[in-house]
Amino acid sequence: MNNIFRRTFFVLISIVLVSSALMKNNVQAVLAPQSQETLDPVINPIDYLVLVNKENPLPETWEDVVEIVHMTNSLGDDVEVEKKAYDAYLKLKDALAEEGVFIDLDSAYRSVAAQQQIMDDFTERYGEDYVKQYVAVPGFSEHHTGLALDLYLNIDGVDVYMNEDMVQYPEIWAKIHSKLPEFGFILHYLEGKEDITGYSYEPWHIRYIDNVELANEITEKGLTLEEFLTK
Ligand SMILES: [Zn+2]
Repeated sequence: MNNIFRRTFFVLISIVLVSSALMKNNVQAVLAPQSQETLDPVINPIDYLVLVNKENPLPETWEDVVEIVHMTNSLGDDVEVEKKAYDAYLKLKDALAEEGVFIDLDSAYRSVAAQQQIMDDFTERYGEDYVKQYVAVPGFSEHHTGLALDLYLNIDGVDVYMNEDMVQYPEIWAKIHSKLPEFGFILHYLEGKEDITGYSYEPWHIRYIDNVELANEITEKGLTLEEFLTK
């Protein structure tokens, strides 16, 4: 009798211990993905408001997490773009085409390594002074994010992609710029804000921020991303 009691007691204790262990595991299984998400930057989504300029380098883990897609433009060039920015770009392109404005992608994502290669090649060919003036320092170009897109125009069936030619069409750029916020884009290098952005006015350089509301606010207030983020 005593033995049976002891055995039953032992069995009951085992059941309690095993089930509490199981419950603990379940609780951990439920909590684990969430706590990992907040602690592990690798599985965090990218920050679409990231600021990369001559003073702020690309975040170190960026190139490990950013999702890049490839497209071929009308010139036959392979262009790489961050995935969400590309989807938004396609919608912008369609909306503009409905108004008779035709755009294409000249360049978007550039890796830090590719920029280093450009810098090395240009230094060898043109010297350090030229490079200092015209080539972005690797790690400090907004194009590293994949969220900065350089557009070019197609006018009456002709591709217009040289900077000096593109600036001849301010009325077309005005139409393009007015459509940007609706698709989560802003114009980054604004006219008259050269000392804030560090760049001359570039009507073709647009920046995806993945937020229509903020894009509208930034555009309406005539702000650069620098001003918006430090206000
Ligand atoms: Zn650009």
